[in-house]
Amino acid sequence: MSFASLGLIDQITRTLASLSYHTPTAVQAQAIPAVLAGRDVMAAAQTGTGKTAGFALPLLQRLVMDGGQVASNAARALILVPTRELAEQVHESVRAYSAGLPLRTMVAYGGVSINPQMMRLRKGVDVLVATPGRLLDLQRQNAVRFNQVQTLVLDEADRMLDLGFSRDIDNLLALLPKQRQTLLFSATFSDPIRALAAKLLHDPVGIEAAPRNTTVKAIRQWIVPVDKKRKPDLFLHLLARHDWPQVLAFVKTRKGVDQLVELLAARGIAADSIHGDKPQPSRLRALDRFKAGEVRVLVATDVAARGLDIDDLPVVVNVDLPIVAEDYVHRTGRTGRAGASGEAVSLVCADEVQQLAAIEALTKQSLARNEEAGFAPEHRVPQTTASGAVVKKPKKPKKPKGARDARADAPVVQEDVRFRR
Ligand code: AMP
Repeated sequence: MSFASLGLIDQITRTLASLSYHTPTAVQAQAIPAVLAGRDVMAAAQTGTGKTAGFALPLLQRLVMDGGQVASNAARALILVPTRELAEQVHESVRAYSAGLPLRTMVAYGGVSINPQMMRLRKGVDVLVATPGRLLDLQRQNAVRFNQVQTLVLDEADRMLDLGFSRDIDNLLALLPKQRQTLLFSATFSDPIRALAAKLLHDPVGIEAAPRNTTVKAIRQWIVPVDKKRKPDLFLHLLARHDWPQVLAFVKTRKGVDQLVELLAARGIAADSIHGDKPQPSRLRALDRFKAGEVRVLVATDVAARGLDIDDLPVVVNVDLPIVAEDYVHRTGRTGRAGASGEAVSLVCADEVQQLAAIEALTKQSLARNEEAGFAPEHRVPQTTASGAVVKKPKKPKKPKGARDARADAPVVQEDVRFRR
């Protein structure tokens, strides 16, 4: 199948050839004709499936074909994303795909000065990629009007709700024209996402690029049981033993991120970090250095879990398991992208057994356990099952206290039943 056979115009197919996109991915093959036909779309697609091109290519083509002029301070298409990183990345893709097309695009997110964004909006833009909070700020300051919006894309909608953007999204929706095309992309489909979809979408085409709530198949995933305090040492040990060229490591807290980066630096290993306390320019710089190969280990909190587009990343290490099981899917989505194989290793301590059980239940798999010699935990990590259960170690039956204890007279069979309950 070719991109041309999906109905894309020559200018776009030429751009795709120059980007070495030769064959559409599954999500692109389904989404492109549907979006070109003006349909609403509800897609279960995670990063790595090519979803960005899936919505951006037909959206750009429709804007060109419609040929309308954008008024000052207006936007014709809105792409809402949960994080600044994803905003940058989606906008970069939109820019690349719109090469040679007469369209203006821009990106707007918080944490940076609003003035340049207001200036750029003066001429109007065809495609505006934005995080919900900043978009509302811009609207409140009359820097952007929505009356010309013909297409709305909600990218990583599940993450948007996880990050508490529900109210911002509702406020924005109330301001948009009722007559419009809406495309909703989400890696997972929880009840709140389904409710949002039901509210937003009109007779949508359903697209499922990968089985729902499953991690990308090409990834080899396993866990290493370890005591909490030994996790940093185990990380260093694994890094050396597997000689991983580059690793994206996830740590629960910002403090933990800084500590690991310090430890790595002390061992002469080039490391950098991305977390919520860092200003946007330094986050982007860390990401660029990692992409350029100047940094071997990028340590991040979940802020960075979405939207990082790093080609051929071989390894993701969960130094800490995520609190929300869905984030495991997003974290591991950083590796094994576009068909490349990858590894996802989780260092799991006894405290995290419930999180592990939730991840295994969500992804419908039992993660292999590989104990690392010299790191066997003192605090055992209880066994889990793919159904999300934690298998409790059977307790030893207590000895009857003596002949006066009524239980001592009970038949043995009954005693067994009591302990198994
Ligand atoms: P996404 O899931 O949109 O984040 O895309 C994942 C990666 O796949 C990005 O690096 C894209 O540039 C790349 N990609 C998307 N579609 C194709 C395609 N049809 N052929 C080759 N690479 C692609």
